[in-house]
Amino acid sequence: MQPEKPALIRETFPVGPLQCNCTLIGDPVGKTAIVIDPGGDHQKIVARLAAHGLKLVAIIHTHAHLDHFLASGELKKATGATLHLHKEDRFLWDNLEMQCQMFGVPFKPVPAPDQWLADDEALACGCGVALHTPGHTPGSMSFWFPEAKLLIAGDTLFRRGVGRTDLWGGDQGALIRSIRQRLYRLDEDATVVAGHGPDTRLGDEMRENPFVRA
Ligand SMILES: [Zn+2]
Ligand SMILES: [Zn+2]
Repeated sequence: MQPEKPALIRETFPVGPLQCNCTLIGDPVGKTAIVIDPGGDHQKIVARLAAHGLKLVAIIHTHAHLDHFLASGELKKATGATLHLHKEDRFLWDNLEMQCQMFGVPFKPVPAPDQWLADDEALACGCGVALHTPGHTPGSMSFWFPEAKLLIAGDTLFRRGVGRTDLWGGDQGALIRSIRQRLYRLDEDATVVAGHGPDTRLGDEMRENPFVRA
């Protein structure tokens, strides 16, 4: 018999001016990690990585609204990890200064992404996979970790809510299709980490989400 595989390290905490949920996923054996959506507080993220003895290899983004990548440049500088984004959100990444002005948030430049995320791409850690789930933005991604039954949904799906589609490139029809055709086909026991606010269970959203039911 194989010894039981140790569980992934996973921590989620709100960061930055708009309290975006940042998630750290770590491999307890290989001691590598990825960070999803470092929207601020890069020192806290670096401290949590150090507390677990993890080496950060990639910084990945559910989308390029300002609150999800404000600290990505500082985190890259502190760790040497690469920046990953879906190409269709490049226009938002490139317009960070305009987004900051609109939301009244201090602007700090962030270097360009190093690599474009693709649909169904395997992630560097945790046996995760990237799912292209457009709608909230054209390049919105969700990250699915089947072994941990963990879904990082960004601003696509919230507890009893869905992402707004009135910002740049938003598309409500696409958002609903993404949720129904990609997210609601995953394991209903999955824990969903939304971009803001509390976690939820995927099956509960399939049955009770007032905007999109399975
Ligand atoms: Zn957003
Ligand atoms: Zn957000």
